[in-house]
Amino acid sequence: MHKVLVSACLLGQPVRYDGRASGHPDLLQQWQAEGRIVPLCPEVAGGLPTPRPPAEIPGGQGAAVLEGNAQVLTITGEDVSAQFLAGAQLALALVRRHGIRIAVLKSGSPSCGNVLTYDGTFSGTKVAGEGVTTALLRREGVQVFSELELEAAELALKQL
Ligand code: SF4
Repeated sequence: MHKVLVSACLLGQPVRYDGRASGHPDLLQQWQAEGRIVPLCPEVAGGLPTPRPPAEIPGGQGAAVLEGNAQVLTITGEDVSAQFLAGAQLALALVRRHGIRIAVLKSGSPSCGNVLTYDGTFSGTKVAGEGVTTALLRREGVQVFSELELEAAELALKQL
């Protein structure tokens, strides 16, 4: 059975920066019942506490963080790039261990976002970009969907 890496906050786990979860869509509950899901919160796995200050990437590009060309900064200016990079590496290790080709990660996050991220101004402004974990997983060839693209994720899973 093909496994799927899923953001832990999409499975009802209260691991978001604000100490809350992000829902638990029916499809993910079904996959969980099938034993298909490998859950991960990259930020918590990388060593950050919950709750934690919100963090953004100036410019919003996770790939730039991977390359050392951007930092992940909290709203108070603390550099948490090392924790974000550690979480991304743990995600990569899980993907390799389980042969995972598909992930469903939370939209908009500086770790997990796959289409849009916040721009680093903490003003709610989104830009085209992907989080640090998503950028690393895509380099590995993993197809990364968000909770807003579950039909596409289900189709991609069927086509494996
Ligand atoms: S979006 Fe990703 S990093 Fe943020 S709480 Fe969810 S799983 Fe953790």
